[in-house]
Amino acid sequence: SDHSLTYPKSPAEMDWSSYYPAHTVAQEIENTAHESHDLTKDMPAKAITKPVEIADIGCGFGGLLFALAPKLPDTLILGMEIRTSVTEYVQEKIRALRAQNASSNYSYQNVACLRANTMKFLPNFFTKSQLSKIFLCFPDPHFKQRKHKARIVSYTLNSEYAYVLRPGGAVYTITDVEDLHQWMVEHFERHPSFERVGQEEQDADECVKIMRTETEEGKKVERNGGAKFVACFRRCEDPPWP
Ligand code: SAM
Repeated sequence: SDHSLTYPKSPAEMDWSSYYPAHTVAQEIENTAHESHDLTKDMPAKAITKPVEIADIGCGFGGLLFALAPKLPDTLILGMEIRTSVTEYVQEKIRALRAQNASSNYSYQNVACLRANTMKFLPNFFTKSQLSKIFLCFPDPHFKQRKHKARIVSYTLNSEYAYVLRPGGAVYTITDVEDLHQWMVEHFERHPSFERVGQEEQDADECVKIMRTETEEGKKVERNGGAKFVACFRRCEDPPWP
């Protein structure tokens, strides 16, 4: 259940300093005494030096995060996970990797994990067009018809993904459940903000290669000799106003 979760009221109020300590600086907040409605009162004391660009939604134990982060050392990557213990496991692992690599060139400062229900309040964390990539790896299939509304791909949620993704950005999906794969393809293809990425381009994408092999769920499917269905969708330019 997510009743104990807290969310920033807006992306500007999100305090990223404990998530990306190496990428935050003290924020100069102009605070004139005579201001009657103080818009800055809820601003965090530290500001992030660059925005988070990649979100792994339902990141589980973080296999994708740990494989992707060293490949994109200049990009801030965020795992979002609803289960408390799993989130804590990933956060602990990040702390350990940072400590172990403190004196090396690369020390996992660009990766973090936070606990959230991504079916709610995604736009509270990210501004419009902030993200370049969203990963939906082995989402819970919710097989039964009456459970389909719990799936993390739907027309409404796709509109949220479209909002936080920049034009040219992409959603990456992978699942071992063919029915869910078809569901995701249908829902993204039907959405005016997305177009499917062609097979050749998809296969050449380094992120797809990593996504296929590095998540915990993907490894389990591999061990059991199961099939993996991949589909990527590009965020299109918004059409001009009529
Ligand atoms: N992506 C990981 C992988 O490929 O190994 C984990 C896949 S696991 C089958 C699905 C994950 O999504 C679980 O860890 C679950 O707790 C998480 N999850 C489900 N619904 C969620 C939600 N609304 N918000 C955030 N995480 C969610």
